[in-house]
Amino acid sequence: MALSTVLIIGGSGFLGCHLVDRFYAVSPRPAIHVLDIRPLPIISPEFYSFNPDEIVFHKGDITDPDSLREIYREVKPDIIVHSASPIHGMGKEIYYKVNVDGTQAIIDVAVEPEFADIIKGLVYTSSASVIYNGEDLRNADETTPMPEKQMDAYNETKALGEKMVLAANNKRPGFKTVALRPSAMFGPGDRQLIPNMVQVGYTSGTRFQIGNNWNIFDFTYIGNVAHAHVLAAQKLLDEKKSGGVAGEPFIITNNQP
Ligand code: NAD
Repeated sequence: MALSTVLIIGGSGFLGCHLVDRFYAVSPRPAIHVLDIRPLPIISPEFYSFNPDEIVFHKGDITDPDSLREIYREVKPDIIVHSASPIHGMGKEIYYKVNVDGTQAIIDVAVEPEFADIIKGLVYTSSASVIYNGEDLRNADETTPMPEKQMDAYNETKALGEKMVLAANNKRPGFKTVALRPSAMFGPGDRQLIPNMVQVGYTSGTRFQIGNNWNIFDFTYIGNVAHAHVLAAQKLLDEKKSGGVAGEPFIITNNQP
């Protein structure tokens, strides 16, 4: 089944703009709607190919189920992509409110009977950090268990959000879910990773070395992460074919297996 309308929640963010860009490139092009608490940023045509005038923006907060319901009614998405989250370094309360309560609201409203013939799937942006246990992880994969205690409130709430999303697979007949776990993302529009590294370059932070200088970390190009979301959305709509993805998490990485 071809994707007809996608609602990208958190679509004004770093990943969100690349999601818009990748869904815009799908043929036939689906209608693309963005739900976010902040407007779409001004994008550079050097890095994105979508026409912002063709993207419909809805101001909304995922912690408000009534506004979600109204936007679902207006948009009638067949696929919802949920990529919203507070940035790193916030307090525990805000992570619980957005990543747990907000994710639950996205699910609860989507499975309401009035959306039974409309919303067919939810693609959730999780994080590879949900399996981080403080030790080196080499050749980790989707069978690697989540630690009993997460490292911080961000990881804790991303893990809870992922569990809720995957548990909602088939919560009502025809509603499918999948979770994607990127690691740190880089690319155009990044406001955190490279800017923070550059900032460290201007401070004495560079005088510290953690570990023996052999630490490895997985960085993933933002366009690949966005592409994975498009593939996951298309797979959810084609679940009857072999190789389905529903109900499962997938680590997204640049590395070869
Ligand atoms: P970002 O901060 O650039 O984008 C997140 C967007 O969510 C923002 O536009 C923000 O306004 C929106 N948002 C926040 N709270 C909201 C709410 N209550 N209602 C509606 N919208 C809300 O972040 P990003 O780096 O693009 O990350 C996108 C997703 O990818 C997040 O779920 C994050 O956990 C996940 N992730 C990011 C990285 C990374 O390296 N940046 C790595 C792994 C996973």
